Amino acid sequence: MRTSVNTFVIVRGGLAAGKAAEALRQHGHSGPLVIIGDEREKPYERPPLSKGYMLGAEERDAIFVHPDDWYREHDVELLLGTRARALDPRARTVELADGRGIPYAKLLLATGSSPRRLTVPGADLDNVLYLRRVEDSERLKSVFTAGPGSS
Ligand SMILES: Cc1cc2nc3c(=O)[nH]c(=O)nc-3n(C[C@H](O)[C@H](O)[C@H](O)COP(=O)(O)OP(=O)(O)OC[C@H]3O[C@@H](n4cnc5c(N)ncnc54)[C@H](O)[C@@H]3O)c2cc1C
Repeated sequence: MRTSVNTFVIVRGGLAAGKAAEALRQHGHSGPLVIIGDEREKPYERPPLSKGYMLGAEERDAIFVHPDDWYREHDVELLLGTRARALDPRARTVELADGRGIPYAKLLLATGSSPRRLTVPGADLDNVLYLRRVEDSERLKSVFTAGPGSS
């Protein structure tokens, strides 16, 4: 991994992270640029998950903020499937769930959100589904396609 005194780290890998990386490169940040995201997918847009992608009107590739090549061409490192678990602002380090420390000069916390889980009886049943991530959309789509009684 390439880090230096001017490493810019973006924690969280959603739309905000993908667009921030684009803006940083457009506006002259030429140093190392790292996106840390706990999902396995590169940054993507969520609106299609409940619309075109779920309906089958949009291809999977269309949901991504940038294609794979873009990250290579703009020298943006993606640490995917990687959770940031702590921040040490004095040492300027992001600590990852696996114990590694990623040093940064500048940090963007692109705070997203996650669904509030139901706490009522039955909330843990297999057929209580949530919609936030691409795999949620794919699961819902398969349930809708399979029809009543499936989940
Ligand atoms: C189904 C659906 C449909 C939507 N439709 C619309 C719409 O039509 N119009 C509209 O304006 N908005 C819509 N929204 C809302 C819009 O998608 C959000 O506003 C947008 O996703 C916010 O982007 P973000 O990058 O700020 O955060 P997020 O998309 O929440 O991304 C944050 C990312 O950070 C990751 N992360 C969290 N904690 C950590 C950690 N500690 N370490 C590493 N990674 C971490 C998360 O897993 C996630 O991948 C929709 C949302 C959903 C779910």
